[in-house]
Amino acid sequence: MRFKTSRISPTIDLETDGKQFGFLRIPHSVHRSAYGWLPMPIVSIRNGNGPSALVMAGNHGDEYEGQVTLSRLARSLEADDISGHLVLLPMSNYPAARAGRRTSPIDEGNLNRSFPGDPRGTITQMIAHMIEEELLPKVDLLVDLHSGGSSLMYLPSTQILLQDDGTISPVEKRLADAYGAPFNHLLHEEGDDHSAEAARRKGKFLLCSEFGGGGTVTPEILKICEGGLLRALHAFDLLIALPDGLSPPQVPRYLELKGDEPYVYASEDGLYEPLVEFGDEVKAGDAAGAIHFPETPQREPQVEYFHSEGVVVCKRIPGRSERGDCLFHLASEWPA
Ligand SMILES: [Zn+2]
Repeated sequence: MRFKTSRISPTIDLETDGKQFGFLRIPHSVHRSAYGWLPMPIVSIRNGNGPSALVMAGNHGDEYEGQVTLSRLARSLEADDISGHLVLLPMSNYPAARAGRRTSPIDEGNLNRSFPGDPRGTITQMIAHMIEEELLPKVDLLVDLHSGGSSLMYLPSTQILLQDDGTISPVEKRLADAYGAPFNHLLHEEGDDHSAEAARRKGKFLLCSEFGGGGTVTPEILKICEGGLLRALHAFDLLIALPDGLSPPQVPRYLELKGDEPYVYASEDGLYEPLVEFGDEVKAGDAAGAIHFPETPQREPQVEYFHSEGVVVCKRIPGRSERGDCLFHLASEWPA
């Protein structure tokens, strides 16, 4: 099978029923491999007519929860378990995911800042273009599983991008409620270089997530990520039945992310000490963190403050920080 607009080509036929494991062949001619290609894994599970979904993980290569979840789903689900078409990309920015890095070691590309991409561009731009122009048109729904990655940690949350008129799509609300993560964040906007806007441009339903992070996975967050995805695919009428013993969804607490005010950044290079915990409710003017200067121990720490009120949903993990690093961000109650 060949794509019409991309130089990337799948080794499997996405129109065929059944479960298929294959690769998206990304041409990559380099010193050690003149006619070589990069093997980006793809799984197609198809059974007749019905709803269709593309589920991505590893958009940022150091976000592991989704990559583990999709690997497990690829093994456990059979074509008979679904009605419709499910396409899984466990390592969406393949070179970045293979390296366990946010960005690609080949071109430094950040896939989620690369849409709509370029079919003749860098490897990352080619992947973005292929997802937007070849895969998204084949499906009804995009699920893009993110987490805090190496530098951040998130309270487990699904995310809905509000529609242009500021309302929540009822279908997307049904999916987020079925996912049943502890939090659901409502986003007012995403950059047009993000996968979320690519899905909007193609008129597709969308569900994103931020699950954990910190450069690792935890059993508790994996359980939310995996169980929730099954419940959401079931709510989308793609998965026919839920597995026995799957826990019911939590009722997510709806919070909103709006503007730049909820973000706290380091204003100096130094060693960062968090002064609040995950889930704390804070007000504008509350101390967020202290930056210490062990190289100049007589110097008083620089205290960073919150600029708005809200719930601490995301925090920086590494202690050493530089001016401009994000230390925290808040989300606020919805509806206000
Ligand atoms: Zn991410």
